[in-house]
Formats: sequence, structure tokens, C-alpha cells
Amino acid sequence: MNATPARSFLLGLIGTDLSLSRTPPLHEAEGLAQGHPTVYRRLDVLTERLKDRTLSEMLSSALDMGFDGLNITHPFKREVVAMLDEVDPVATRLGSVNTVAIRDGRTFGYNTDVTGYARGLAEQLPDVSKRSVVQVGAGGVGNAIAFALAEAGVEELQIRDVDAGRAAELAENLNTATGTSVATGSGPDGVEDAIAAADGVVNATPLGMLSHPGTSFDTSCLTPVHWVSDVVYMPVSTQLLQEAEAAGCRTLNGTHMAVYQAVDAFEHFTGLPADADRMRETFYSLG
Ligand code: NAD
Repeated sequence: MNATPARSFLLGLIGTDLSLSRTPPLHEAEGLAQGHPTVYRRLDVLTERLKDRTLSEMLSSALDMGFDGLNITHPFKREVVAMLDEVDPVATRLGSVNTVAIRDGRTFGYNTDVTGYARGLAEQLPDVSKRSVVQVGAGGVGNAIAFALAEAGVEELQIRDVDAGRAAELAENLNTATGTSVATGSGPDGVEDAIAAADGVVNATPLGMLSHPGTSFDTSCLTPVHWVSDVVYMPVSTQLLQEAEAAGCRTLNGTHMAVYQAVDAFEHFTGLPADADRMRETFYSLG
């Protein structure tokens, strides 16, 4: 009989509007499948229990209570950076952390939205041309994706957003962080012409969700030379991906980023390799 008790993990997600997040059950199922009882708590600062707590207080409490790690989401991904003992270079350049590993009372920050998107792109579309890409949407997720695209070797990234100022700001931040002039940012005018001349296009807007039907650009500009990536994963097969596939494009759906951000976070939290296929199956079983 093995007398050594299994190591257990205590994890949490700090942010707002967490009820629909699939991240907690993804980590709990993967920990348990590896023989480690895992509890992952939603810590929503809009709930009655936590509404007057600051991020700094939540972080200290997690350290005191022996948490092994935390995911950090809206509105705290930027604020948390300055509170950590160490932040990895990618998250430092982006100025945003979504994963905090806690080891021996010290906090280590990472951004697995960036590494997760990059991992999905490299796995699903390993050989596509990345000379020029158009990214539509410069919000929270768009920030991480733009950095991932730059890290993946995109030479020319056009960021478009209905809020042209937001697109320009993201492009400027990316160029400053990477010391390049890889990105430009502007409004949506002429986006279809830009896509027609590019290798790939990424939708980083909510367009395509059941609550936001439609596409963020007119897909008649797509031809078989394009690869098309959608961040929306509910539904998995969005109108954009259906129309792209009908036009002969290779596609990357939003589940890969969602699953790999959790795979990478699990590995940071536990120091154990995660089974990405098993986590993907769990992710689909939750839909
Ligand atoms: P956000 O609201 O922060 O940003 C969306 C951006 O899109 C905004 O800047 C908005 O101005 C812009 N926009 C909206 N319509 C546009 C249009 N027609 N043309 C150009 N720009 C337009 O949202 P977010 O947090 O970045 O999330 C975006 C979507 O990503 C979510 O709706 C969700 O479906 C998806 N998401 C995916 C993952 C994943 O892991 N795959 C994770 C989180 C969210």
C-alpha cells in the first residue's frame, strides 16, 4: 500500500462575471485525472462576499490560505502585474498577466492567453504564411492575440477596430514592446481590401457569438489563399468559419486558445505536464 497521500491543488479565478467560465472544471478534471484532488474556486469581486475586497487583499488571502495558483481576468489583468514577485518576459512586454503560480510563498506571473493562442496556431496551422495578417478587434483578447502573432513571426500586422483609437494604441504598444514597426492600427474602412491582400485574418471581436450574430467583415473578400482564425468559441463553428471553409480557407477555431490557455496555466500551477487532448475533451463535454 502506498502511504504517501496524493498531492492536492487549490486554485482560483479572480475577476468579475465568472459564472460561465469553463476554466474551473477544466482544471479540476485534469488534476483529478492525474490523481491529484483539485479544487478551483471562482472569486468574483461583484459577489456580496467579496465586493469590498481589493485585488491586493485577495492575493494576500490566497497566499495565506495556501493556494497553488490563480487565474486573473477582467478587470485585473493589468493591475496585478505590479503586485507579483516575478513576471515572465512575454507577460511583462504585454503588461498583462492572466496566470499567477504560487510557489513557496512567492508569486510568478504569466500570460497564457498569449502562449495559448500561439500554441493553437502552431499546432493547427503550422505551415501557413505569416507575412501579413489583418486582426479585427483590439479589445482584451485582441491585445493578447496581437502579441502572440508578433511572437509567431508575423511581419506585417494590420489591427482594425470600430474604435480606431483603440486599434492605434494597441499597435503602438506592440511596436514599443517588440522594438519593431510590425503593427499598424486604424478603423474598419477598407478592411476587406486589406484582407484580400493579406495571408491571414483573425476575428477578435464578439461578432459570431449567439448574442452578436454576423461577421466583423464581408467574407466575400476571402479566397483559398487565406487562413482564418476566430476567437469566438460559442458556437465553435461560427458564421465566419463556415463562410471561410466554403471559400476554401484553412481555419482555426476559438476553442484552441481557450483550451491551451488552461493547459499552459495547469502546467505553471502544478509543475506537471497536462494532457491537452483530455483537457480538450473535457472542454467540449462542458458545452
Ligand atoms: P472586448 O469587448 O474587450 O473587445 C472587442 C473589440 O472588438 C472592441 O474593441 C470593439 O470595439 C471591437 N469590435 C466590435 N465589433 C467590431 C467590428 N464589427 N469591427 C471591428 N471591431 C469591432 O472583448 P474581448 O474580451 O476582447 O472578447 C472578444 C471575444 O473573444 C468575446 O466576445 C469572446 O467571444 C471571445 N473570447 C475568446 C476566448 C478564447 O479563449 N478563445 C477567450 C475570451 C473571449
